[in-house]
Amino acid sequence: MKKMKVDEVLNTNIWDVDSKPHIVVDYEKCRRLCNKKACVYLCPAGCYTLTGGEILFSYEGCVECGTCRVICPHEAITWNYPLSGRGVQYRYG
Ligand code: SF4
Ligand code: SF4
Repeated sequence: MKKMKVDEVLNTNIWDVDSKPHIVVDYEKCRRLCNKKACVYLCPAGCYTLTGGEILFSYEGCVECGTCRVICPHEAITWNYPLSGRGVQYRYG
């Protein structure tokens, strides 16, 4: 089997997006409390972006790694797995 790079493997994933977001961000905490906004730099799927100093979040491409939940210093993230069978589906484990 041909060796694949990590980004090639991730590009094989598919998503069955849950209509209900499985991650909810408290933007008020982001705005008031957070200077470093580490989620923007550490989310491997690029779900967090910074626009005009404000956090924008989209859950659709989330790979459910849990990084944002662990690294957020202000408990601004409510995190649950998507409903059973929804969310990311890995093709290579
Ligand atoms: S690290 Fe937490 S508080 Fe800071 S911007 Fe990201 S979600 Fe908001
Ligand atoms: S769980 Fe991982 S992929 Fe999903 S939003 Fe958080 S850091 Fe990004």
